Amino acid sequence: MDKPRTFFMRTYGCQMNELDSEMMVGQLEKRGLKRVEEEEDADLLLFNTCSIRDLAERKVMGKLGLIGRSPRKRQIIGVTGCMAMAKKESLFRKLPHVDFVIGTNNINDLSHVLDEVLETRKQVIRVDDRFEENLDYLGAKRDDPVKAYVSIIRGCDKYCTYCVVPYTRGQEVSRPQESIEEECRLLVEKGYKEITLLGQNVNSYGKDHTEWNCLFHDLLYRLDKIPGLERIRFMTSHPVDITVELMQAIRDLPSVCEFVHFPLQAGSARILKKMHRMYTPEIYLEKVALLRSLVPSVALGTDIIVGFPTETEEEFAETYRLFEEIGYATAFLFAYSARKGTPAFRWQDDIPETIKQERLHKLLDLHTRITDEQRASLIGKTVEVLVERRNKDEKLLKGRTRCWRNVVFPGSDNLVGSLQRVHIQGFSHQSLIGTLAI
Ligand code: SF4
Repeated sequence: MDKPRTFFMRTYGCQMNELDSEMMVGQLEKRGLKRVEEEEDADLLLFNTCSIRDLAERKVMGKLGLIGRSPRKRQIIGVTGCMAMAKKESLFRKLPHVDFVIGTNNINDLSHVLDEVLETRKQVIRVDDRFEENLDYLGAKRDDPVKAYVSIIRGCDKYCTYCVVPYTRGQEVSRPQESIEEECRLLVEKGYKEITLLGQNVNSYGKDHTEWNCLFHDLLYRLDKIPGLERIRFMTSHPVDITVELMQAIRDLPSVCEFVHFPLQAGSARILKKMHRMYTPEIYLEKVALLRSLVPSVALGTDIIVGFPTETEEEFAETYRLFEEIGYATAFLFAYSARKGTPAFRWQDDIPETIKQERLHKLLDLHTRITDEQRASLIGKTVEVLVERRNKDEKLLKGRTRCWRNVVFPGSDNLVGSLQRVHIQGFSHQSLIGTLAI
């Protein structure tokens, strides 16, 4: 086995995985490896995996199986991320050509693991249950020159009955505020205008370290003081931990964007209880009303699971009605899939796939109608856009409003990375369309 000189990295799943990949890319480039775009050109193949849905896992397993069966040069193959954590050694049994497995809590060990594989020529596994706050965040290699992710808390203690995250990413571990602040300051010095604070539940920040006396809203007040940091976002939240202090911070801090991912999951009290979400539809609605009274311009995002075990037609209708009443600006809609290792895995997955898809499509249609109405209401208005890049066909610039709405407009490349005022004139099914306001 020769020392690798090139590597290929594929990331599946959420923003947390994207950030983990950026940190692993940083480690590999630090030891002199060059990233390549084609698998065939790489000496090392790295797959940073996701376990949140059955489909995500099947995709990676299919891909890795294919690599094992296809004749190609000897490549070192590594599997990292949530699937590595969930499947551990069993991955070696199913995929004997995999050389190493690294769990979500061990991404800092990538370089050592690679050395061990090269030295011993044996399969190596690192899957610690607990996350130690020792990551080299500053070494992350970021692709996006305008927006950056910053991890503030890892893991989750909520144990929703359908979710693998507490098992794949472990208990909540907050990152010291000084370290977060230092990274944000360095990113701003490098020219970043927008930072998204990441965690499975950012609103739990600091609860595992009461001696810090710094909860999530306190952290926002600290970061808002960083000169040049134009926009702060955060992702994702648990409704139970969205406090009035956080709502006031969104209202009062100029850099904190008026967008909150407020995942409902289901609109029926019985299903929410079965999901162990720890709120009722009434409590959820009260929080939304309070947030909207404090921050009238706020846009809300959500996650919804349809077809949870035993969900009746009427219970789905409750989700539909709540979705319509709240009018989400963004929504991630999923048909339930049972995840091994979760409490819900023991329950019969009794809603037929056809019904799940029917419910999903009803919600998708509703979501399209709502977002079209919201976009139409912005025609004639002027919005602030952080310009991110050219859009796919290279003709228009693309950016986002503070409320996370996509905007495209004509303009020159030198506007990328700047805040611009854009006059909205129309919309497509994905974006608002405008021109630079004079
Ligand atoms: S709060 Fe989110 S990450 Fe945590 S268990 Fe529930 S769904 Fe999973």
